[in-house]
Amino acid sequence: MKESRFDTIARRGLLLPAETREQIRATGIRCRPQLEIVYQQQSKLWKLRGEESGGAVELLGHYVGFVDKRGNTIPWLQRVQNFIPNGTHAIVVTGELVRVEVFRYEKTYDLLITKHWLEGDANRRPELRSAILFLGRNGSLETELWDRDSVFRGAAMPRFYQRSGEPGGPDSIWTESVMKATEGACCPGCRHSHLLVAATDCPETEERAEVMA
Ligand SMILES: [Zn+2]
Repeated sequence: MKESRFDTIARRGLLLPAETREQIRATGIRCRPQLEIVYQQQSKLWKLRGEESGGAVELLGHYVGFVDKRGNTIPWLQRVQNFIPNGTHAIVVTGELVRVEVFRYEKTYDLLITKHWLEGDANRRPELRSAILFLGRNGSLETELWDRDSVFRGAAMPRFYQRSGEPGGPDSIWTESVMKATEGACCPGCRHSHLLVAATDCPETEERAEVMA
């Protein structure tokens, strides 16, 4: 069965035109929305592995990070520090997660929020399931978070509209995560993990117990 455009976006992340991808590559920003299925020998469990990654230059930004299905922060397995900025910042390995991806060109933003989980029995390699929770194109945010208005970083997000002109942003449970991913896409020379946090900074939740298991 041929995969639809939306299936591809749900699985692999925002579909950006080849010219845009080329331009991002030229800036050295390395944002990697793809997820991997990994097998943990000790616990004999299949898990999902994601890389929080990306950053910005003045002109554009591309950032991807992860939260749980309720929009709460989740802990990284490992923090990654690179000499070269705008690359991989942290690794998460867990059973299910929500991915928040932001692409910015000047003051125009694309936003994709997707949920990912594994389906199948314990004996075989499971299938990766993905669903789009929100996809917004050409959102706008007038504040120049990467420069003049950097004080607002982490507290602002782009506005999205429906074709009818009515507001069309994501559900409010995603607001905080979107603000953080927006911050990443407006963070020149990014060396932070804007969404994933150290386990000690993570509120104790059901999901966290699951993540740590
Ligand atoms: Zn940053």
